[in-house]
Amino acid sequence: MVGGRASERFPALRFDREVCFQPDAGRCRADVALDAFVRCAIARGAVVRHDERVVAIEPAIDGARVRTETATYSAALVVVAAGAWVGELIGLAPLRVTREQYVHLAPRDPTFVWPSFIHHRDPVAYGLETPGAGVKLGEHHAGAVISAPDQPVVPSDATRTRLVAYAREWIPGVDPVVVSEATCLYTSTPTEDFVVDRVGAVVVCSPCSGTASSSRRSSVSSSPG
Ligand SMILES: Cc1cc2nc3c(=O)[nH]c(=O)nc-3n(C[C@H](O)[C@H](O)[C@H](O)COP(=O)(O)OP(=O)(O)OC[C@H]3O[C@@H](n4cnc5c(N)ncnc54)[C@H](O)[C@@H]3O)c2cc1C
Repeated sequence: MVGGRASERFPALRFDREVCFQPDAGRCRADVALDAFVRCAIARGAVVRHDERVVAIEPAIDGARVRTETATYSAALVVVAAGAWVGELIGLAPLRVTREQYVHLAPRDPTFVWPSFIHHRDPVAYGLETPGAGVKLGEHHAGAVISAPDQPVVPSDATRTRLVAYAREWIPGVDPVVVSEATCLYTSTPTEDFVVDRVGAVVVCSPCSGTASSSRRSSVSSSPG
């Protein structure tokens, strides 16, 4: 889609070049989806134990052992999906964890249906509407490396200032005033691909973060939620 047509379709955003538009894209509400997965697993006989930290996963002749703070479990196959610190738990070396930061901004027109957007520049900017919170705006891979799970992850004034300046220049459809902000951890492999692999009786999965950077164009996807 050329910039002019994109501006007509999405007047809340500013475009200065050709745009990759993906009309069949969608968004997944992660927290709602997780609740549904857990409910389905329980309905099929799974036992869910919250608040039981795994401290080690060890190979065994008949599969693997999982040691937690309170018990040891044996299984023919263990699937590990431990998020940012999965590398520590199973000795997966090349994962990099960074602190990323985003803000929410108030849309000027509450009836506008926001696309998810990725703007390839340095640093890459991205955003989407968070129902009830506003338009989320963040930078991709712009934060500091976090080397330990207990390291404090606090928002940076410089990043907040950059995000507001970005909104002022590129997102005419929002009021460029921070309504709320938060940090999150990004987990990345050197190639920015996700990880799904198996070593013996241990399967490791990590979607990792922000793996949408293969195109050098700006991209928008129309995704009502
Ligand atoms: C507020 C917020 C906003 C984000 N925004 C973005 C974004 O815009 N773009 C993007 O790409 N990414 C974003 N992320 C990051 C993204 O959420 C993560 O990359 C993604 O959730 C990773 O999924 P996962 O299943 O690998 O790990 P997680 O969702 O982190 O799940 C891991 C699970 O394993 C559990 N666990 C970990 N260690 C142990 C242990 N030793 N014992 C037992 N349980 C353990 C954890 O409690 C957790 O339940 C955001 C994160 C947050 C918090």
